[in-house]
Amino acid sequence: MADANLMEKIVSLAKRRGFVYPGSEIYGGLAGTFDYGPMGVLLKENIQNLWLRMFRDERDDMYSVDAAILMNPKVWESSGHVAGFSDPLVECEKCKKRFRADHLDDVKTCECGGKLGEARQFNMMFKTHAGAMEDESAVVYLRPETAGGMFVNYKNVIDSIHPKLPFGLIQIGKAFRNEIAPRDFIFRLRELSQMEVEYFVNPSDWERAFEEWRKTIHAYAAAIGLSEGTVHELEVPDGDRAHYSKRTIDFEFDYPFGRKELWGLAYRTDFDLSAHEKGSGVEQKYLDEEAKEKFTPHVIEPSLGVDRTILALLSSAYREDEMGGEMRTYLAFDPKVAPVKAMVAPLLKNKPELVAKAREVRAELRKVHPQIAWDDNGNIGKRYRRQDEIGTPFCVTIDFDTLGEKPELKDTVTLRHRDTGEQERLSVAAAAARIAAAVA
Ligand code: ATP
Repeated sequence: MADANLMEKIVSLAKRRGFVYPGSEIYGGLAGTFDYGPMGVLLKENIQNLWLRMFRDERDDMYSVDAAILMNPKVWESSGHVAGFSDPLVECEKCKKRFRADHLDDVKTCECGGKLGEARQFNMMFKTHAGAMEDESAVVYLRPETAGGMFVNYKNVIDSIHPKLPFGLIQIGKAFRNEIAPRDFIFRLRELSQMEVEYFVNPSDWERAFEEWRKTIHAYAAAIGLSEGTVHELEVPDGDRAHYSKRTIDFEFDYPFGRKELWGLAYRTDFDLSAHEKGSGVEQKYLDEEAKEKFTPHVIEPSLGVDRTILALLSSAYREDEMGGEMRTYLAFDPKVAPVKAMVAPLLKNKPELVAKAREVRAELRKVHPQIAWDDNGNIGKRYRRQDEIGTPFCVTIDFDTLGEKPELKDTVTLRHRDTGEQERLSVAAAAARIAAAVA
């Protein structure tokens, strides 16, 4: 959608309707942090659950871990992050504002007119201290990616669960990056959530596994409702890849501010396991008992940012149209990710028999899915508009015909469709079946 104000509209709707709020807002905010509100949390859960379903539950070779965010700093020395997880930083000599050198193209002056200094490397890991001492010996880092927690548990999982190769570890969690210039709403954060897989393979098997995960990523994009052709692959050239990667595909999305990385798929070779074996002195090899071979597995890593996924969904679902002579805004979410699946409304809230019947219908629909909202406030058109703005695919209205005013319509309801505003009359059971099919 070519709309210069689209980002502003998305940010405003996200706040107005309880998806995303600026972090610590009553104190003026904290750059690079945002908080998810009631609708945002449900959206996030749906995205994560669908990911777990497709990346873990529909397979036989995936195991979850939930590792600590604080890790022994040696983990990040071995992984190369202490030495190399940095971005080039330039500072304005006049106002001291800082920029990422690789985001500036050939600009040599600051917005204030000041001269920009030489670029230097800025490590992006957040540092803190564990325990009462605040000296160098107590330094620990907040993890910059969830991956580290999986590599250091590779051997624990082998020893406790005994999986055969290939197998993968999977984790959802927070990661922290002291980005020089957090920006673009929830696109570039300092505190972010990642959904990551470390998939361990025989080195000869890496290309097959890479292709398999590449397909799964596209299937996941389709499942959450990012339509075909909106997620673009970029083969990252030599020299631009992270220090651990021999092949990387960036999956990019056309955000309102341009085409940018949404997710990544990397072939990390045996870089991490070998580095941890060297750093810890603990062997990280795999013994293939049938082939009588011992080797260090190689790793394929699909890495998906939750926040960038949410922003992609908000951007692609945002719609404006005219309905009933009025402008309306709605989110055309796929029902699978929509925070609320249906809203149930008694036509009038001061008629106890309508309210009682509507409560009964809601209880029935909640057997299909727990997220069935109730709204008896204001005229019915307004209630529909509120649901449109949070992307609720269906509204179910209970009226006097439901109670049998026209006997042939007894126990039927109107089911209203979000995108078209069309309404149809059908039995409660048929409405429930319709909702069940859409959200499955
Ligand atoms: P970029 O080049 O945009 O800084 P990256 O290549 O450093 O991103 P990765 O290290 O590959 O990102 O991280 C994996 C995924 O984590 C990314 O594809 C993205 O979805 C998410 N991600 C990374 N950094 C951020 C951030 N600062 N804010 C939000 N999400 C992020």
